[in-house]
Amino acid sequence: MDDIKQEIIDVAGRLYEKNLNGGYGGNLSIRVNDLIYITRGGIPKVNLSPQDIAIIDINGNFIEGKPSSEYKMHLYTYQKNADLKAMVHAHPPYAMGFSIGPTNIPTHLFPETSMLIGKIAISPFFPSGTNELAEDISNRIAEGAIAVLMEKHGISVVSTTSLWDAYYKLEAIEHVAMAWVTHKILKEAR
Ligand SMILES: [Zn+2]
Repeated sequence: MDDIKQEIIDVAGRLYEKNLNGGYGGNLSIRVNDLIYITRGGIPKVNLSPQDIAIIDINGNFIEGKPSSEYKMHLYTYQKNADLKAMVHAHPPYAMGFSIGPTNIPTHLFPETSMLIGKIAISPFFPSGTNELAEDISNRIAEGAIAVLMEKHGISVVSTTSLWDAYYKLEAIEHVAMAWVTHKILKEAR
């Protein structure tokens, strides 16, 4: 249990250090059998301690602490996708830029991200914490997406292996978003 909480603490810290998530943004979870470990709401996701990780069960009962207001997005996603082990939701600045469009991040342009991530799904805008947002994201993941760009909001990435895996995929997506913006600037300068 401590290992699971520590992994969430470490990944949340890395997201902040790498400028992939502002302190108050985002939420992270790991599923172990029928339990979901998830960051608490309303706290900066920096230097977290084990008390900052809440636990709910797969039926949505609160077991320990109070989860993020976005917990239903995680809960519904795990309920509809039994093979998933982790989910990271963050606000990476370049991906957020794409989300305003919303314009998809061209992961297909690079063989590595094309294979690793495939096509990113796009979810229309829903207010944070709503059932509609949770239903829409979880349905898109159930349809096969591992990453969902959320209009005027951010991005969510899931993994069947680990939270670190979800983190590295999110990082790769942000790099593609940055590369595309660089490409546009260079094209303009030519
Ligand atoms: Zn968010």
